[in-house]
Amino acid sequence: MAKTVAFLGLGHMGAPMASNLVTAGFTVKGFDPVTELLDAAVESGVEKCLSPRESVDCADFVVSMLPNSAAVECLYIDTDKLLESIARDSLVIDCSTIAANSAKRLTHEAQIKGIHAIEAPVSGGVAGASKGTLSFMCGGDAGDVDRAREVLEPMGSNIFYAGAAGAGQTAKICNNMLLAIQMIGTAEALQMGVDNGLDPNVLSEIMVKSSGANWSLQNYNPYPGVMPEAPASKNYSGGFMVKLMCKDLGLAQEAATHSKSYTPLGSMARNLYGILSLRGGSDLDFSSIQKLFQTVD
Ligand code: NAD
Repeated sequence: MAKTVAFLGLGHMGAPMASNLVTAGFTVKGFDPVTELLDAAVESGVEKCLSPRESVDCADFVVSMLPNSAAVECLYIDTDKLLESIARDSLVIDCSTIAANSAKRLTHEAQIKGIHAIEAPVSGGVAGASKGTLSFMCGGDAGDVDRAREVLEPMGSNIFYAGAAGAGQTAKICNNMLLAIQMIGTAEALQMGVDNGLDPNVLSEIMVKSSGANWSLQNYNPYPGVMPEAPASKNYSGGFMVKLMCKDLGLAQEAATHSKSYTPLGSMARNLYGILSLRGGSDLDFSSIQKLFQTVD
């Protein structure tokens, strides 16, 4: 008999992830408080549930893809108290990007109730969620992460084990802090070249084969027109929104404060993305940081 997955949070990421689980043969019982999103998921084969409790009933796995730490803690522990309704033999897999301390709390509270829970935040964005090529950065008990593989594999191509509870979230924010810093540096260099008369296509071609080469330059050039398929060439639409990058950089700064780590570039990146957001860029792709450099007199 097909195994059942309760899927909570059918937004930009959750909807295509749930759809891939349906394609892989799971029975997927979905819930999202936004009725339109729930109805749209039904069209891809997800069974509609009218409450989180209804969705976890008889579920072998519970997967959540929620906006932030507060949403996760409210759902499982503080408000909906969903942990009280989840069977002891089911496995909770929270894929949301949240604070490492919130992930640890979820695992701990689940353990108290005899439930196994892991975190599995993702990298790869909406495109990766749709194609089933996400990278999962898992934290928790290694045996539980192995058990999660049958659910994670249809949604992703890389499943990493980072360590104990919280480690997956820490890996995720380290990666995104580096990505932000690298994107900002790339945009800054491109703008200086253009301001000094260089063609951004030529400069990109040179740097991508030189020591400045990096992931943003290779795959996600922030200068409009250099890569026709990149968000920069589509008015910075699609991709990974500035407001989500702000959230991740905020989590990185919280983690740095907690661990007394010195992160001057991460702090600067948080400030620059905050300014971009205040200037109306919060729903644009994060490569729109290029605009900040274009507005200097
Ligand atoms: P989203 O806002 O589109 O989706 C979140 C969904 O959760 C919403 O539809 C919301 O209605 C739903 N929700 C809120 N409370 C709920 C509850 N109690 N029960 C069920 N559903 C509930 O966000 P998203 O872009 O899908 O991102 C989800 C998570 O993935 C975030 O933590 C984000 O940081 C992370 N992430 C996003 C991307 C991306 O490119 N969008 C990339 C990597 C990681």
